[in-house]
Amino acid sequence: MSGGVSGHILLVEDDDALRRTLAAALGAAGYVVSTAGSGSEALRLAGEEPADVILLDLGLPDMDGKEVLRTLRRLSETPVIILSARGLEAEKIAALDLGADDYVEKPVGVGELLARLRAAQRGLERRFNQQTTFVAGPLRVSFAERRVWVLEEEMRMTPREFELLRILARHVGRPVTHRQIKTAIWGGEAETDAQTIRVLVAQLRLKVEENPSSPRLILTEPGVGYRLVAEVSAAG
Ligand code: CA
Repeated sequence: MSGGVSGHILLVEDDDALRRTLAAALGAAGYVVSTAGSGSEALRLAGEEPADVILLDLGLPDMDGKEVLRTLRRLSETPVIILSARGLEAEKIAALDLGADDYVEKPVGVGELLARLRAAQRGLERRFNQQTTFVAGPLRVSFAERRVWVLEEEMRMTPREFELLRILARHVGRPVTHRQIKTAIWGGEAETDAQTIRVLVAQLRLKVEENPSSPRLILTEPGVGYRLVAEVSAAG
């Protein structure tokens, strides 16, 4: 695997076959994996030996996964990636608002899961770094100077465009919900709806995307929000 990022994963999943498959794939990618098949076991393991990232299924036999997440968040800042059933947008949003870092939909693609794990780990490292310049693909941002370059060309940003870029960059590689964007930019004013956010995202895409109608930097997470990608794939 590229990047040389690995570490200890706590995998919480009650489906035996899926748990074994994922544990084997993560092990092959260089991770050390602990597994739990229930919420109580997950909390016990999380307390005994801190993991670098926790993969958490929300549908567990003994307790609601959201309750596990709430407890984990009180214990530590360990990144949590939710394993979510496809189509349950409300559940994903609730988990993100409770402090989950990301989600992966089932059936889980191993390549996608590994990319999300790297993003979650980088996000945690970022909190401990005093980075002044942010780079993702062709995009470069100086938050201190409030300046933005795309392919070395400086772009003028409105204050709201810049704030949108800031919250997306703070969560690079991870989803940002409509509510998080609204709070960051408008301070929770009730009148701001998803349409207003969509318009602002479209404005920002015009400035930072090579092809704004086919974005590769700022992706839409249907029903949830947006994600600034950490790994921009080669042009194609
Ligand atoms: Ca389950």
